[in-house]
Amino acid sequence: MRDRDLYAAILGVTSPWEVVDVDLDTPGQRVEVRLAVKSGTGQACPVCGKPSPGYDTRERRWRHLDTCQFQTVLVAQVPRVECNEHGVKQVHVPWAEEGSRFTAMFEALAIDWMREANLSAVTRLLRLSWDEVAGIQQRAVERGLARRERSVPRRMGVDETSFAKRHEYVTVISDQETGAVVSVADGRGRDTLDAFYKGLTADELSSIESVSMDMSAAYIGATVTHVPDAVRKICFDKFHVASHLGSAVDLVRRQEHRELAAWGDSTLTGTRYLWLTTPGNMTRAALERLETLRAESLRTAKAWFYKEWAMGLWHYVSRTWAKKAWGEWYQSAIHTNLEPIKQAARTVKRHLYGIINAIVLGITNAHAEGLNSGIQRIKAQARGFRNRTRFRNAIYFHFGQLDLYPTGISRSSAHTNS
Ligand SMILES: [Zn+2]
Repeated sequence: MRDRDLYAAILGVTSPWEVVDVDLDTPGQRVEVRLAVKSGTGQACPVCGKPSPGYDTRERRWRHLDTCQFQTVLVAQVPRVECNEHGVKQVHVPWAEEGSRFTAMFEALAIDWMREANLSAVTRLLRLSWDEVAGIQQRAVERGLARRERSVPRRMGVDETSFAKRHEYVTVISDQETGAVVSVADGRGRDTLDAFYKGLTADELSSIESVSMDMSAAYIGATVTHVPDAVRKICFDKFHVASHLGSAVDLVRRQEHRELAAWGDSTLTGTRYLWLTTPGNMTRAALERLETLRAESLRTAKAWFYKEWAMGLWHYVSRTWAKKAWGEWYQSAIHTNLEPIKQAARTVKRHLYGIINAIVLGITNAHAEGLNSGIQRIKAQARGFRNRTRFRNAIYFHFGQLDLYPTGISRSSAHTNS
C-alpha cells in the first residue's frame, strides 16, 4: 500500500477528496497529509446546495490525531464557489467543523481528555495552548446548547458561585431531578433570576414545583414575582441552612478563641473544622476530640449544639409537626446569650416557610452540595477563572449533560481510527 492510500484509509477520506501527498518530517516528528478535491468535480454552494462554478481555492490546515508519536496535520486546498444567490462561499470539508483548526476527531479526543483531566494537563498532553483548549471547550458547549431540547425543571435549584476575584458571581440554575445545569447567568442579583423566568412561558412557570435556594432576598423576590404559588414552592434546603448556622457557630468560636487566647488559653486553637463538619463524617479521633471539648463549658459548644439540633429536624413528613419542632428550636435559640445564634434564629424564623417546604417536599441537600463541590473543584483545577465566559463554559461542559461531540462523531466511534 502506498502512503497516500494508507492515509486515505486511516483518515476515512472519500470522494471527491483524495490524498495527494504525504510529507514526513522525521526530525520534527511531524506528518503533513495533503488533500485536494479530484479535478473535474462539480461543486455546490454550501448554503443552498445549488451547483455553482468554482471561484478559487484557499489553503487551510487542521491538527489531526497523532500518527504514532508524529503530530499529524491535514492541509487542503479548499475550493470556494460563487453562488448566484449567496456569493463567494468556501465549501464544507467532511473532517472538520467550520471555523475550527482541528479535525472533528481531534476535537472529540480533546473533549474526552477534558472530561478526565484538568485543563493544564490537557494542554500538556495534547500540546495545545490554553486558548486552543478553551476554544475547543467553547465550541463543544455551543454545539451542546444548540442541540439541547427545551425543558424546564420541575424541581429547580438556584445557587450563586463566585469566580476569580471573589466579588464576581454567576447564578447557576439546575434541574434537581437530572442533576443537569440548565443555565449559567451573570450576577447574583434579582434581575439575574428575573431574566431567566422572563424567558419562560406561563405554562412552564406553572410547571415548576419547587425552587431550592439559599436565603437570598434577590432570588426569593424574583421567584415570588414570577412563579405562581411561590410561597409553597420556595425551598431553603438543608445544605444552605447548615452553612448559615455554621457561619454563626464560627462567629461564636472566633470571638471566644480571641478571649481565651488573651489569657494564654489555646483550647480552641485549630478546632474550626471540628465544629463545622457533620459528626457522621468525622474520623474517630476528631469525634473524640469534639467530645472532650463539649465537656468543657464553651460558648462554642453551646452554639454547635443549636446547629446540630436544627440539623436533626429534617425528617418530618407533616407540615404541622415540622413547624412545631422548628418552633421549639427557635424559642430555645432566641433565649440564649449567643448573639450570632440569636441572629441566625431570627433569619430561620423569617424563612421558616421555605424550610418547611423543603422538608415536606423531600428536597435533599445531596444535589446542591454535589454541584457546589463539583464547581469548586473545576475552579481549583483552573486556579481561578480570569474570564467569566470560560468559567461559564466549564460549568456547562462538566455539568450541563450536553451532547458535546462534533457532528458525525458519537461517543463510541470517537477516535477509533487513531
Ligand atoms: Zn447558494
